[in-house]
Amino acid sequence: MSVTASQFSFELFPPRTPAGWEKLPKLINDLAAVRPGFFSVTYGAGGSDQNGTYDTIMKVVEQTGIEAAPHLTCVGSTRANIATLLQQYRDAGVRRIVALRGDLPSTSMSNAAPGEFHFANELVAFIRDTHGDHFALEVAAYPEIHPQAVNPEADFQAFLTKMRAGAHGAVTQYFFNADAYFDFAARCQKAGIEQPIVPGIMPILNTAQLLRFSAACGADVPRWIRLRLEAMGDDRASVQDFGAEVVTRLCETLLKQGVPGVHFYTLNQAEPTLRLWRNLGLPVSG
Ligand code: FAD
Repeated sequence: MSVTASQFSFELFPPRTPAGWEKLPKLINDLAAVRPGFFSVTYGAGGSDQNGTYDTIMKVVEQTGIEAAPHLTCVGSTRANIATLLQQYRDAGVRRIVALRGDLPSTSMSNAAPGEFHFANELVAFIRDTHGDHFALEVAAYPEIHPQAVNPEADFQAFLTKMRAGAHGAVTQYFFNADAYFDFAARCQKAGIEQPIVPGIMPILNTAQLLRFSAACGADVPRWIRLRLEAMGDDRASVQDFGAEVVTRLCETLLKQGVPGVHFYTLNQAEPTLRLWRNLGLPVSG
């Protein structure tokens, strides 16, 4: 398997506490040392605001010179404020955006985001209409089906609509079953999608958190992984050792099949992602 560091990306979230902001420069430096292709920074997840996303993006760019891609969501946005943000990001030299619907408030009865953009495809089309090809656009993909999908086929068709609206590529929700990814990628290829579908990879750090996230986002934690993690109880070191083993094997399987890259959900911790990097023998600079 021949890969370069530039095929890999790292996702951060804007810190939620003053202590998190203090640690951010070191976190960025530690991750930047392996020279990933780009960093992306979430928006809205966990209540973060766009200033937090913007400030984190700027820190990445100023500290490392590595490309940084803000996430933008339909939820909580109007055409006017998306237009303002796009201009701000463009002025700051940003060339890549992750365009999403965003998570709906738990009280929502509909699958559509409230406001002016209801689904990610509308946001993609708006960015393309207003900025042409200036921004490379990434969207989200769900090999194990989006949790609010009406049915699997409708979900897949919605994904195709989003890609055809002008996305340059997609990053998947995390998964532990490589076959779900390969099946999804094969369906995309059959449907004529040529843009890269990059697997999103979640390190395993904490059993309760992983099971909670996975239930919310529709990621399947296979029974054998769940039972083994649960049997380790509060023994964090064993959970992380086992997690690193399982996720390393998953990445090896994906890389052997020639996936176009890997996007790591770092959870704002450098070491678990760098541990996977070392286990995989990935290059330190591309
Ligand atoms: P969409 O593609 O709009 O799909 C949402 C749902 O609507 C699906 O069920 C789909 O089947 C259906 N659908 C789509 N289009 C249509 C249509 N035209 N008509 C009818 N139904 C349709 N969340 C955040 O809040 N902030 C983040 O920063 C963030 N980053 C993420 C990064 C990645 C890589 C991933 C995979 C997810 C991220 N999320 C983030 C979570 C994401 O916002 C949620 O999963 C959200 O519920 C769906 O977003 P989407 O862009 O995939 O939505």
